[in-house]
Amino acid sequence: RGSMANSKYEYVKQYELDDTLLPGCWIVIRIDGKGFTNDLHGFEKPNDKRALDLMDECAREVMNEFTDIRLAYGESDEYSFVLGRNTDMYGRRAAKLVSLLVSCFTANYVARWSAHLTDTPLRAMPMFDGRAVCYPLDSNLRDYLAWRQADTHINNQYNTCFWALVNSGKTPAEAQATLKGTQTAFKNEMLFQGFGINYAHLPEQFKKGSVIIRQRALVEVKRRDDGSPVMRERSVPTVLHVDIIRDEFWESNPQLLA
Ligand code: ATP
Ligand code: ATP
Ligand code: MG
Ligand code: MG
Ligand code: MG
Ligand code: MG
Ligand code: MG
Repeated sequence: RGSMANSKYEYVKQYELDDTLLPGCWIVIRIDGKGFTNDLHGFEKPNDKRALDLMDECAREVMNEFTDIRLAYGESDEYSFVLGRNTDMYGRRAAKLVSLLVSCFTANYVARWSAHLTDTPLRAMPMFDGRAVCYPLDSNLRDYLAWRQADTHINNQYNTCFWALVNSGKTPAEAQATLKGTQTAFKNEMLFQGFGINYAHLPEQFKKGSVIIRQRALVEVKRRDDGSPVMRERSVPTVLHVDIIRDEFWESNPQLLA
């Protein structure tokens, strides 16, 4: 390193391109499972709660590891992580940030799989892609998150109808044709009249996805000699299944955009 012998090779370093993300912008890193549609992992349809819980736990671990993440939002096989506007984590280098979050998430996904999908052995290597996007305005960031949460609802409503039709004997093609071009009200009515499913009563995790923010909570930090726990207040990444489109969430968590 730095020796005469090495210096003639060092010019290759100049071929590495700068990928510093714009200063002062919100950084969103979204990761997404590769090929999860193809029944690689044997998920229950339309929503395998065990797999969603695994995603949520992995995202919490990512937030424990990288404390500059302010908020995370997850649905299906994806998670978005929001870094503070002025973070200097890894000099805001896109490749560093994306690759570290992806590998942290994936490593946890593999390590924690069996705790959630107890009797479903991993039969394919889970992989996640990742990208970084910069948003200059608070409103851009809120619109980004609203876009993801609206997507959660649309997909969940469609998938719930689709699998109800398939489970009632329709082929996937017939189910698709039945749903083509239909509106929200029609789908809700079809679920209720046809299958006795009240969409409003489905779990919030399915309808709203998962948002993770840091909240104060009492946690056990160690045990005394007599075995009793020592509790301290700490900031803990906490999973919520709430609306993040309306103002209320942002007004009750003003630290997020501060
Ligand atoms: P790509 O590699 O391009 O991301 P993909 O097959 O992963 O392709 P996505 O658009 O990411 O496609 O869609 C994810 C798929 O995984 C959806 O079909 C979704 O229904 C399914 N999926 C993800 N999580 C779950 C879950 N917990 N339960 C049931 N299905 C799930
Ligand atoms: P960064 O996060 O910036 O990559 P780093 O501490 O990982 O920092 P590197 O420049 O990547 O620094 O260096 C990797 C370090 O790991 C070196 O000190 C190297 O000696 C050590 N290392 C890697 N693989 C082995 C190995 N198989 N056995 C012993 N040491 C190893
Ligand atoms: Mg995709
Ligand atoms: Mg995917
Ligand atoms: Mg996806
Ligand atoms: Mg290294
Ligand atoms: Mg190295």
